[in-house]
Amino acid sequence: MSTAQYLPVWCAACARATLQQVPPGNVSNCRSCGIPTSVLPGQTYLESDSALFERIQVAVLATPLGRRTAEQVEKQLRDVAIRGDAPELVLLHVLDHLPGLHFLLPALQLQPSPALERALLLRATGMLLTIVVAGAKHAQTCSARAG
Ligand SMILES: [Zn+2]
Repeated sequence: MSTAQYLPVWCAACARATLQQVPPGNVSNCRSCGIPTSVLPGQTYLESDSALFERIQVAVLATPLGRRTAEQVEKQLRDVAIRGDAPELVLLHVLDHLPGLHFLLPALQLQPSPALERALLLRATGMLLTIVVAGAKHAQTCSARAG
């Protein structure tokens, strides 16, 4: 199995984030439209995380967040691991704003969470934060351009 690192990248043309393998010192082109992407701040992931990342991105796209809601969600998601909050509780709050994330619920309902689920949920919160921040930034750039 490949252990190559995957980074979250943003395509401004597609207005979406994906996990892509970015060779060190290189720029990765968008898999959909081919233009150069920019690497988003956040963790590095493995190829096996791509499916989860994609599902979270689809869920976020399905429910456009207003600027204030995006800020709220961002606040809830930031530094979950450092704050020591239970990721399942944080995600349950965020579900109010992003109902598309309900696919995470089976994992959220495990009580008590096995360590594996917990690690997965922490990764999910990190991915979600990266995606929400990138989307909010993009929306700001677009509205600034519009006038
Ligand atoms: Zn693209």
